[in-house]
Amino acid sequence: MWVDSHVNLHGEAFADDLDTVIEQARRAGVGTMLTICCKVSEFDAVLAVAERYEDIYCSVGTHPHEARENPDITAQQLIDLAQHPKVIGIGETGLDFHYNYSDAADQYKNFAAHIEASRETQLPLIIHSRNADEKMAELLEAAHQDGAFPHLLHCFTGGAELAARSAALGGYISFSGILTFKSAADIRLIAGQVDEDRILIETDCPYLAPMPLRGRRCEPAMVVHTGRKLAELKGWSEVDTAARTSEAFFNLFKKAQKPPKPPKPEGAA
Ligand SMILES: [Zn+2]
Repeated sequence: MWVDSHVNLHGEAFADDLDTVIEQARRAGVGTMLTICCKVSEFDAVLAVAERYEDIYCSVGTHPHEARENPDITAQQLIDLAQHPKVIGIGETGLDFHYNYSDAADQYKNFAAHIEASRETQLPLIIHSRNADEKMAELLEAAHQDGAFPHLLHCFTGGAELAARSAALGGYISFSGILTFKSAADIRLIAGQVDEDRILIETDCPYLAPMPLRGRRCEPAMVVHTGRKLAELKGWSEVDTAARTSEAFFNLFKKAQKPPKPPKPEGAA
């Protein structure tokens, strides 16, 4: 079974057919999913999705695009919301200096609160970083001086140096459908180098449908295409790739329940 480590299921894109979308994911071999909170004000809607399906979990946090929504959010607010058994990560949070939808000052403040919540709960920090490699690496290194916390660079589009500095702090990296895009040779190069037990995959649906489905509404079932590309880059079989990326997911997101292994067929050794 594949894990889709980053989905956005609570919004309008799936309002009419979520059950069908989940059903299609199951048929494609996708099991556990992590649906992401991008605004604390939408947390209830995100949590409702996680409560509806046994193996869908959620996060709590405010995306850097939305940092202006609640610049004064405190770590304690995030910690309180993270007590729910289905909440397994803090974020997504981070820095985005590509779109700059929120002021840098608000983004930094917001990110700091999320870091503190992650350190306190030891729930992984789910990081969005765009055009912010140097600053992101610096902040993560500085924050670790005050105490370690697990982290994930999601939908990785950064450079090799950020990947290496994050890895030195024990970080994990997740690749989205971008891995399959023709223009993403540099991202494939990095994926080829990341430690084999630290790689996750994701769709980031409804955005970023992988090739050959690019342009369509992205769905969790499509994570298989990204998985196949990773298999090709690593020289792994598809089954092995699903197993390794799932293992990495559960090693990082320890609060998620691993699905039980299917029973061995009769007579098998
Ligand atoms: Zn993101």
